[in-house]
Parts: sequence; C-alpha cells; structure tokens
Amino acid sequence: MAQIIAIANQKGGVGKTTTAVNLAASLATAEKKTLLVDMDPQGNATSGIGLEKENLELTVYHGLLGECSAAELLQPTQLDHLQVMPATPDLIGAEVELVSAIAREKKLKALLAEIEDEFSYILIDCPPSLGLLTVNALTAANRVLIPMQCEYYAMEGLSQLLNTISLIRQELNPRLSLDHILLTMFDGRNNLSHQVGEEIRTHFPEQLCETIIPRNIRLSEAPSHGLPVLLYDIASKGAQAYLDLAREIIQAEV
Ligand code: ADP
Ligand code: MG
Repeated sequence: MAQIIAIANQKGGVGKTTTAVNLAASLATAEKKTLLVDMDPQGNATSGIGLEKENLELTVYHGLLGECSAAELLQPTQLDHLQVMPATPDLIGAEVELVSAIAREKKLKALLAEIEDEFSYILIDCPPSLGLLTVNALTAANRVLIPMQCEYYAMEGLSQLLNTISLIRQELNPRLSLDHILLTMFDGRNNLSHQVGEEIRTHFPEQLCETIIPRNIRLSEAPSHGLPVLLYDIASKGAQAYLDLAREIIQAEV
C-alpha cells in the first residue's frame, strides 16, 4: 500500500509546491515508485516538473469528475520512478461542479484507489485554501506534511489547519495523521528564522522534521527550467536538503 502524503498549508508561498516536486523527485531517485498529484489549479507542480500545460488533454479535473480513469492521467517525467497526475486552471471548476455530487469529499480517494498499489509514495500538492480540493487531498491521504516558512506569523492560521485536520479525521478519514512539520526557507544568518524554528519545535517536538530546508536560490530557479532541483543543480544546498528529507521519510518507516 502506498504512503499517501498531503502537503498542505492554506497559506500561499510557504513552500508546498517546492516540497511536493523536490521530495517526489528525491524519493524517486531513491528508487521508490512515486506519484506527484497536482491538486492546485495554478498547476505549479505540473509545470515545475516539466510538463507543458497546453499539451494536456486530461487532468486531475477530469479524474475527479469521473470522466476518465486514473491510469489515463499518469504522465511520465524525466525521472524513471516518478509519474505525475497534472492540473491546469480548469481544476477551479471542480470546486463548484462537485458541490452537489455524492461523496464529493472522497473523489480523489476513489481515483487514487485505482492505482495506489503501483506506488510506494503518492504526494499531493494542495492549493492555498481549505476548500473542497484540500479536503479531498486530506481525505485521500494517510499523512499530512505541513511546510512552514520561517518568518513572522508562521504559526498564524495553523490552528485553523489543525482544526480542519481533526474534523476530517473524525468525519471522513480516521487514519489521517499529522506526521511531519517542515521548516522551509530557513535562513541561518537570520535570528528570526532561529526563533520561529524554536517556537515550532516547542509546539511540535514529535512532528518537526529533523531536516530543515534552507533558503536557496537554486530551489527558486529550477521550476522555470521545468526541473526538480536535483536535475538542475544536485550539489546545491536545496537539492541536498530534499534528498535528506526523502531519506528521513523513508527511514521513519523501517
Ligand atoms: P506554495 O506552493 O506554498 O505557494 P512555493 O513552493 O510555490 O509555495 O514557494 C513560493 C516561492 O518561494 C516560489 O517562488 C519558490 O520558488 C520559492 N521557494 C520555495 N522554497 C524556497 C527555498 N527553500 N528557498 C528559496 N526559495 C524558495
Ligand atoms: Mg503551490
């Protein structure tokens, strides 16, 4: 059975997509069969991994609405063990079109159930909201990873996210656990980064990942080349940090 990890935080710009793309690529490099699911209508994970959105006929939108099978959505990437279920802006429509559907929160879960056995890891990149798309991701997942940017107000909005997670656990998905909180864009020269890191560690000593993702220019450059950072600059601190994170996550299972 695949480990299905939703990468969620309703704040934008905290490193969800960067983490989804680069953790997926790092797991694939460790020869774990990995699927990256883009649940954000912005489709940044889709383009960041190198797919041309204009050439996509079928996207996760069609899968959620039952218009195609999961297998039809799988797209190859430049990495042997990594496939993608892409998204384009039409996914915005799903939020509205699913409102009256039966079991609307479980559409992604049902879709992934078709192909789950083919993968060791399925990573879901969530949009910056707690709407139906994120609810679908949290219902399909067995674990949540929350990226937190090391800046002022990092904890703001967190209680709302934790509430949503616990509601989903009660109502829709009892197996959901919050296993990973990841510090992103950490700047070691900045006192604030250290303070925020310590505050988060105090609240979540069990969940905080040992790996810390540094602020690294290579991580922000790689998506414009359609590459995960490890194919762009493997020696960079950003690439090495996500490889470390993959090792940490794989090791947590043995
Ligand atoms: P989200 O998906 O949460 O909105 P992104 O992953 O898209 O966040 O990151 C927001 C912006 O910050 C992007 O431009 C991305 O390239 C950049 N970024 C993310 N993580 C880092 C990092 N560790 N170092 C430098 N830039 C980063
Ligand atoms: Mg994003």
